[in-house]
Amino acid sequence: MPKTLTSDFLIIGSGIAGLSLALKASRHGTVRLITKRQLSESATDYAQGGLAAVFSRDDSVEDHVRDTLNCGAGLSDETVARKVVTEAPPAFKT
Ligand SMILES: Cc1cc2nc3c(=O)[nH]c(=O)nc-3n(C[C@H](O)[C@H](O)[C@H](O)COP(=O)(O)OP(=O)(O)OC[C@H]3O[C@@H](n4cnc5c(N)ncnc54)[C@H](O)[C@@H]3O)c2cc1C
Repeated sequence: MPKTLTSDFLIIGSGIAGLSLALKASRHGTVRLITKRQLSESATDYAQGGLAAVFSRDDSVEDHVRDTLNCGAGLSDETVARKVVTEAPPAFKT
């Protein structure tokens, strides 16, 4: 007999997107989180913590944005890619 579980929020995925949402949603109700395999099996767990930034005079924001969009194969949001690349250097200096 299948068991019925209830909650105010059902979140699918235990990567940073799902976990961030789970934390926020938990302020407003009960949260249930489901994921594909192990909780830690996600791109988030494999991420190296890098941030794209331009420091060399031989490099440019435009090159980084172009490379990011190429690697994203049409799935990247150009506004976000440009914001991250542009705002990364001051973030490193703080
Ligand atoms: C090797 C590697 C290195 C990286 N290094 C960096 C870095 O240095 N800097 C950086 O900014 N980014 C890096 N990234 C990218 C970064 O990890 C991802 O952009 C980010 O973690 C994505 O988070 P997410 O929550 O959207 O997805 P994920 O972390 O992939 O989470 C997706 C979740 O959904 C679950 N799921 C998927 N399908 C289903 C399904 N059908 N049913 C139920 N659950 C499902 C998965 O199990 C997983 O828990 C790296 C990624 C990899 C793989």
